[in-house]
Amino acid sequence: MLYQRSSALFKDAKTVIPGGVNSPVRAFNAVGGTPIFAKSAKGAYVYDEDGNRFIDYINSWGPMLLGHAFPPVVDAVIEKAKLGTSFGMPTALETEIAELAVSMVPNVDKIRFVNSGTEACMSAIRLARGYTKKDKIIKFSGCYHGHSDSFLIAAGSGAVTFGTPNSPGVTQGTAKDTLLARYNDIENVKELVEANKGEVAAIIIEPVAGNMGCIPPIEGFLEGLRTVCDANDILLIFDEVMTGFRLAKGGVQELKGINADIVCFGKVVGGGLPVGAFAARNEIMDYLAPLGPVYQAGTLSGNPLAMAAGLAMLKAVHSDKGLMNRLEEKTKYLHQGMADALNKNNVTHTINRIGSMISVHFAEEAVVDFESAAKGNNETFKKFFHGMLDEGIYIAPSAFETWFITDALTYEDLNETIAAVERIAKTL
Ligand code: PMP
Repeated sequence: MLYQRSSALFKDAKTVIPGGVNSPVRAFNAVGGTPIFAKSAKGAYVYDEDGNRFIDYINSWGPMLLGHAFPPVVDAVIEKAKLGTSFGMPTALETEIAELAVSMVPNVDKIRFVNSGTEACMSAIRLARGYTKKDKIIKFSGCYHGHSDSFLIAAGSGAVTFGTPNSPGVTQGTAKDTLLARYNDIENVKELVEANKGEVAAIIIEPVAGNMGCIPPIEGFLEGLRTVCDANDILLIFDEVMTGFRLAKGGVQELKGINADIVCFGKVVGGGLPVGAFAARNEIMDYLAPLGPVYQAGTLSGNPLAMAAGLAMLKAVHSDKGLMNRLEEKTKYLHQGMADALNKNNVTHTINRIGSMISVHFAEEAVVDFESAAKGNNETFKKFFHGMLDEGIYIAPSAFETWFITDALTYEDLNETIAAVERIAKTL
């Protein structure tokens, strides 16, 4: 495959955009090579500036649950744009999407829309701190909640430790209020809570992790968090930016039957436009301005184009009774096909899958937390990634990302993918 035009565009982009990209995950730093510049996309495929077609397993990092350029979303945006692109005044549309979202998600009464997952998570912890009048939060190593300061904290050593910032610009003052726990390790969480008695406002978690590859919660882990939170007046925040409206219509709360106190959304909820949201019961949400003391705002929040796209998306997800099963079946089929292809060729690997999230870890042992994910063989991943790319299959350029399965994928696409994996496996 030729990437000449992408290479030329990347060269130009680097002169005016840091690293040539507006979000680092798009760069190929972890795998080497030149990022592919997208030109258009339709259904399960993305087309680049060189005219190559890729079967897309990134899907804009999650929003395209129903495929690219999904007609109801595109039509809704076009129609709305003709009526004005932003008002800075409330619109009927915002109530319509809020009503639908709240009806789909368990245990929430109100929702506020923002412009990204980052904003949703950042606002959720401010709300939790304001509501509980406590300062500290617990997050899990390997979970990503956007790039606001409190979340850019790397794992420290030891079970009870203050985080150290992993980005210059995040102050020690901020970092000391973020405590780090191991994913899927409830004892570790209990120790942290015990060591910081009365100080923890919230535990925030990706209830199915997608930012260290796909890592589902082990049996009893989320239940354990709920119990710890209840016993210590801590709010449980589910960051469902990836999983919301994807793993079930009501997200992981519905899938696992566990209630969170605040839920964050992004990606699918905006149908591919810049949208995030956070939701909770009345007593918590009414703590937000203008009703309550916790401030949170946005010039473009609830933007009509974004809300039109989100509403069209949620309506489609809501009305399609067979969607979640179809997605799961497709993902399972891909899982089995890839596992067979890799096993036949003795490639050491572990595949994690839940619903329409899946990832291939080139690791020997079960991948249950950041530590085990990091044991994956990155050299194998790099070869796998570039092999897939040259076969016309676009996966995330990092081993620490989940793949997102879209309903637009046909079994032919999946077979094409499996056949490519088989060819690549012979070279690994
Ligand atoms: N939370 C999770 C779980 C995410 O996966 C992401 C983005 N990948 C975010 C928050 C941040 O969302 P955004 O990039 O829209 O700011």
